[in-house]
Parts: sequence; C-alpha cells; structure tokens
Amino acid sequence: MMTRVVLAEDEMPRQWYNLAADLPTPLLPPLGPDGKPVSPDMLAPVFPMNLIEQEVSTERWIDIPAGVLEILHRWRPSPLHRAYALEKYLGTPARIYYKNESVSPAGSHKPNTAVPQAWYNKQFGIKKLTTETGAGQWGSALSFACALLGLECKVFMVRISFEQKPYRKLMMQAWGGTCIPSPSTETQAGRDVLAKHPDTPGSLGIAISEAVEAAVTDTTGQTRYSLGSVLNHVMLHQTIIGLEAKKQLAKIGEKNVDVVIGCAGGGSNFAGLSFPFTADKINGANIEIIPVEPASCPTLTKAPFIYDHGDVAKMTPLLPMHSLGHSFVPEAIHAGGLRYHGMAPLVSQAVVEGLHTPMAIPQLECFKAAVTFARTEGIIVAPETSHAVAATIRKAMEAKEEGKEKVIIFNLSGHGLLDLNGYDMYFQGKLEDHELHQDEVDEALAELKGLPKPEVRRTGKWKLARL
Ligand SMILES: *Cc1c(COP(=O)(O)O)cnc(C)c1O
Repeated sequence: MMTRVVLAEDEMPRQWYNLAADLPTPLLPPLGPDGKPVSPDMLAPVFPMNLIEQEVSTERWIDIPAGVLEILHRWRPSPLHRAYALEKYLGTPARIYYKNESVSPAGSHKPNTAVPQAWYNKQFGIKKLTTETGAGQWGSALSFACALLGLECKVFMVRISFEQKPYRKLMMQAWGGTCIPSPSTETQAGRDVLAKHPDTPGSLGIAISEAVEAAVTDTTGQTRYSLGSVLNHVMLHQTIIGLEAKKQLAKIGEKNVDVVIGCAGGGSNFAGLSFPFTADKINGANIEIIPVEPASCPTLTKAPFIYDHGDVAKMTPLLPMHSLGHSFVPEAIHAGGLRYHGMAPLVSQAVVEGLHTPMAIPQLECFKAAVTFARTEGIIVAPETSHAVAATIRKAMEAKEEGKEKVIIFNLSGHGLLDLNGYDMYFQGKLEDHELHQDEVDEALAELKGLPKPEVRRTGKWKLARL
C-alpha cells in the first residue's frame, strides 16, 4: 500500500503546459479602454517583455529555465498522497488522492509562479516588484521569491486580511518584503476608495489597482507589477502541479482519473492541477473537472462571461472572463484568497466550452470538511483549500451512493496554520453562510453596461473526440 508517491528531482517536469494551445476555442484578446485589442507593447510598463511573451504564447510546451528549476527543487516535486484515512472514514469505494502544495516554504502553491516571475523580471533588469495580496499567501510567496533573487518587494494587502492574519505580514517582513493594508493613502486609487468608503474591508480588486499604480508611477522604470493568479502565464507556471501528479498517478498504478478538483479564486491552483487533465479531456478522456468557489463569491456558477476589468480602478485591460463586476466586494469570508470578482480567462473559457463544471459551496460545509480532513488525514488545510476538500467529500459520497470505484484527485493548495482564526470562529459557532442571490449578482453587474461583450463560443468540438 503506497500512501505517499514521491518523484526524484530528475523526474520533475522540464516544461510547462500551455492550455491555450489546445483549447477548442482560441482565447479572446484583452481589450484596452477604446475596445481595441491590447498589444504586448501596451503592457510593457506593467510587466517585463519576457513574461508578456508567455502571456500571449500559444506554444503547447514552454521550457522551464534552469535557474527556475534549481529554486523549485528546494521543495519540488511535491508529494501525491492517497487519502486512505479519509476514504475509510467516509466508507467510500472512491480512491482519493491529493497533491500536497502546502510543502513549499510559503505554505501554498503560490511560489510555483512567484519564483519564475521574479526570475524573469530579474533577467529583464527589474529591481522592484509590487503586488497585491488577499489572505497574504501571494504577498509572502512573492517576498520569498524576491528574497532568493535579490529583488525588492512591496505588497498591498486587503485590509480585512491584514487585520485577521497578522502573521503573513511578518513572513513578508522576514523575507524582506514591505506590506501595507489596502486601501492605503499611498496611491490615488486607494485614496479615492477611502474617501467614499472609509470603513471598507478592502478587496483584491482595490489592492490590484494600488499595486499597478505604484509600479507604473515609478519614474526610474525599474519597477514592475506581479500578479499571483488570473493571467495566462500564471496558469502556465502552475501546470507543474498537474504534470507531476500525472507521473505520480502512473507510478501508483492509476490509469484513469474520474474527477479532478481544485478551489478557485483567480483560478491558478485549480488550473495548475487540472490543465494537463483538461488536455486529456479535449482528447477524449471522460473526466469531470471541477473548480470550486465560495457560495458568497460565485463567479463561475452565477456570473456571466463578459469583458471586465481585473481591478476596481480599471487600471487593467478588459479581460474576457466570468465576473461579478470589478467593484464587487464579497462578504468577508475566511477564505480570503477566494474573494475575487473575476476568474482566469483560460478557466473561464474552459467553463464556457463545458470542459470544466464549476461548483459553489457555502463556508460552513467547507470548514466541516476541513475539520474532518484534519482528523483523518492530519493536515490542517487553508480555508481556501477547504472548498476543494468539501467538493471531494461530496463526490466521494456520490460514488458511495452509486457504488462506483471512482478515482478522485484534488489539489491541497495550502495549509491553514496561519488561518486558525477562521477555525476558531467555526468552533465557536460564529460563522454564517452567505449565499449570493441572483438579484445581488444582477445589481453588481449593472456597472458593466456599455462595456464590450465577448462572443460566447462553445464549440463542443472536444466532445467529438470521445466518439
Ligand atoms: C491564493 C490561494 C488560493 C486561491 O488562488 P487561486 O489562484 O485560485 O489558486 C487557493 N488556495 C490557497 C492556499 C491560496 O493561497
């Protein structure tokens, strides 16, 4: 009985997988304020050109630079676990696996892209990165990567998380990063929000505006902005998760996977695990691929596929994605990393195509699942990850009812050792479910009137492959 499947360092993938090469529908381009496609040059003040090239690439495989591999080896390949104890507790015939991304120094999957992003910026001659962070995982991951590569790092942290999660700020400090609560008075975007809503809990959309502004207004030209999710190159860097997982499943003797699950905030850890399996699905495999989101921020399950800005001050281009509207401020749930109004265009398009089938789960069920997981498998997962655990338990129970030996794999995107506040509230019975209703969604979307509408293209072409 193999419980934990590990790969040797030299078995780690040497290339990232780009789903843009295989999506039956080519991705729509980002649009500028004039409604015209954004050219790579227009992004140059925000990102270094080498990352912009990755952002627009449709090459299927992209080499991972040796300098990046060297750093990733400090914790990769990450282990794949078989959840025997959870299976036994649930009495399910399903075989449950999880990819453990909590083993990175920052405690989540985020260093998988923080390291290459810092590396490419360094190659391009950049000295300082700015970014936003929700629960603090991204800010700490980027601070970690910047420390290893000798870059400065400035992090705008969503205020509610800054207050609920003081320890991540200290991690950033330990790695030499600077962290301030957002909205702040340091940027025009922050000052505008504070003037209107002095008590705002903040949101990722606001923090992104601040970080982009801080990067593009640096007159030395040596500062760029870095985003921890949503963009194509971020999804790309995370695919090392799914590529490793496939090798590990083969090693343990699994030929097919039935269900692939990941929690989805901006979509990166979900994409990381699922895109290599999505390629199999496009080629005819019968796999259910489920991004899981909070019922209080139901971007994929309730919001339309539209062109929207990634941030509240409309500093970012318009992206073709599922979105609740750029000024939507979700409930202050504990899964801070899942409180984002939009979703990665690649994940959004895969949902439109029917390749991914999203699910929304309320937070009480998620915490209950997380506690079950802690008491069986032993790992205390991040509140974000608890959404993937809850969905896994739902699918495992479904397999039990159907009496089917399904193979389920989920991404354990991070541990929750710095998020015990949420567990505390749960144990005290102080947590509530906040389901976002359709009328609230409609209200949030009213601000998008007048923006260009993407063509909703569902080719169904991938389905033919199965015949
Ligand atoms: C940031 C984060 C998420 C959400 O971000 P994605 O880009 O959707 O993956 C999920 N889990 C953990 C542990 C995180 O740190």
